[in-house]
Amino acid sequence: MKKYILDLTNAQFKIAVKSIIEQEYRINQIIEWVYTKKAVSFEEFTNLPKELREKLDKRFLLRALKIVKKEKSVIDGTIRYTFQSVDKKYFFAVFLTKNGKNSVCISSQIGCPVMCAFCFSGKVKLVRNLSRGEIIEQLLQIENDTREKVSGVLFMGMGEPMLNFNNVTSVLNSLLSNKEFGIGKRHITVSSVGIVPAIKKLADENFGVRLALSLHAVDEKQRRKLIPSNFGFNIEHILNAGRYYLKKTNSRLTMEYILVKGINDSVVDAHKLTRLLRQHELLNPDVQVNLIPFNPVIDTHFQTSDQQSIQKFKNILKFNGITVNVRQAKGADISAACGQLGY
Ligand code: SF4
Repeated sequence: MKKYILDLTNAQFKIAVKSIIEQEYRINQIIEWVYTKKAVSFEEFTNLPKELREKLDKRFLLRALKIVKKEKSVIDGTIRYTFQSVDKKYFFAVFLTKNGKNSVCISSQIGCPVMCAFCFSGKVKLVRNLSRGEIIEQLLQIENDTREKVSGVLFMGMGEPMLNFNNVTSVLNSLLSNKEFGIGKRHITVSSVGIVPAIKKLADENFGVRLALSLHAVDEKQRRKLIPSNFGFNIEHILNAGRYYLKKTNSRLTMEYILVKGINDSVVDAHKLTRLLRQHELLNPDVQVNLIPFNPVIDTHFQTSDQQSIQKFKNILKFNGITVNVRQAKGADISAACGQLGY
């Protein structure tokens, strides 16, 4: 059976290819074709002898995903991609463009075990983790399809990245490597609902990427309404893990807070959130709160907060010295906004 080349780190590829290539420069040429030049067939590797290209083709697979659907927002140019894996499972990625800067929001799992009540992906039962290659290929295919260079990556698509730790961190190595994608650490964001041991491990491995913690609530009762399973980690644990991440990596931290009408969007909630951040030494310029007005999805009774409540909430945080941003929905007309990725 052919080996999926993107599933292999460069070190693993060197071992896998040893029987047919020994010269280091040839291996580097292949790596360049795969990651930098984004070739889709071995025939394109024109600086390699034909014989070698044929041998590679017999042993390795360059692409494992198919784009089966592509929808483009007429509002803001966001593109939602539906991918099909070799085992005929579906998942999503989103291309975002703003002021000439492009980023992708990619999936790390097929389905999601977290099952957030406000999220369409959470309604899709977990099928499996995506492999290293399947995560990387989303980015490669989007760059090829749009013919645009992507300079930012968000692990905020389908799935909880910290439950697929080994593959996600292997991808981080490739994204950060100048031989592969060469994307700056400040332009990569990994989100987590709060899988505390994995967050600490990510901090210890010190990639320096941004961490986005999906807090969404100011007390446990409220959080359970939005995220029924807390995987055994309460708000206290999660905020402590956030502080640990910040101190260890010297990076940035984002608190994601979805605003749902009548659930977590009151003035009292805004004050409680401020207090929580202060108590956990998270009132500092490296911490930003992203307020995300709930994006409607089918099968929920939740409603979007009204503009006045959003503004009040924001002003209270701002008044208390918190960097706060109200996230504008992207691709809302094609169900590509936050929490809308589902079948
Ligand atoms: S918001 Fe993220 S963690 Fe929650 S169900 Fe959706 S994809 Fe999973």
